[in-house]
Amino acid sequence: MTQTPAFYFDILENLARGRCPACELVRQKPMHYIDHALYGLVTDPGAQNLFAETGGYCRRHAGMLLKIPWGSALGVAILYKRLVEDAAAQLQAGRGEEAGRTKRGGISGNLFSRKGRKDFPARDDNPDCLACKVERETEQGVMNTLVEVLRAGDGRMVAAVEGNEGFCLYHLGLARTMEHGGRIDPILRRHGLRRAERLLAELSEFIRKSDYRFTREQMGGEGDSWMRAVGWVTGVSLEKEDRAFSPGELKRKMRGETPAEE
Ligand SMILES: [Zn+2]
Ligand SMILES: [Zn+2]
Repeated sequence: MTQTPAFYFDILENLARGRCPACELVRQKPMHYIDHALYGLVTDPGAQNLFAETGGYCRRHAGMLLKIPWGSALGVAILYKRLVEDAAAQLQAGRGEEAGRTKRGGISGNLFSRKGRKDFPARDDNPDCLACKVERETEQGVMNTLVEVLRAGDGRMVAAVEGNEGFCLYHLGLARTMEHGGRIDPILRRHGLRRAERLLAELSEFIRKSDYRFTREQMGGEGDSWMRAVGWVTGVSLEKEDRAFSPGELKRKMRGETPAEE
């Protein structure tokens, strides 16, 4: 390999920690993108236009704006002032509602033309959300790199996939679909089977100890196997840092204090 493919080391690192690299990166990259974009957006009118033209972030990603604690308020204020201005202009002109319904469905060729403009800020579902785009590109990039380097017989990646658990059932299935029964399919199946078998053993133990006849037995590592089963099957994150910062926590973080234990 002449050049290290995108996400190569991210995949290795997440596998070493037993986490699904695709889920983790899809969770992290849009957050980093939004955080990074906020700094650029303050001084870059082109980027501000792009943000307004694409209708702003979808509701899910707009929610992330409120979770980024490190002094991004100015960027958010500048971005949303523009969206509020646009909304006010449309309300004044009596436009918006029907245009908002018909105009969704992907960015047309000319993003900055009057024609391509969104006439109403999107909420839950905004196919043009720039953070969603980062999310899609991240997922594709991770999966492509995984399949390509495994196909190329990259020793480090083969060892990481063979020696760790990590990929959730969804992303494992995606990789297997991309590979459709090819040479690396056995590696992928073994990877998934290891996690499945361990979970099955732990779930059986958890269920057994939950029986009233055995409640005196101390619950061990299998105690949270039910959560990990949900995590593995669905890819839902079990990480605590996912939750929103409370205002008090946010202030403490900005002052550099350690948050109090809950
Ligand atoms: Zn996953
Ligand atoms: Zn989005």
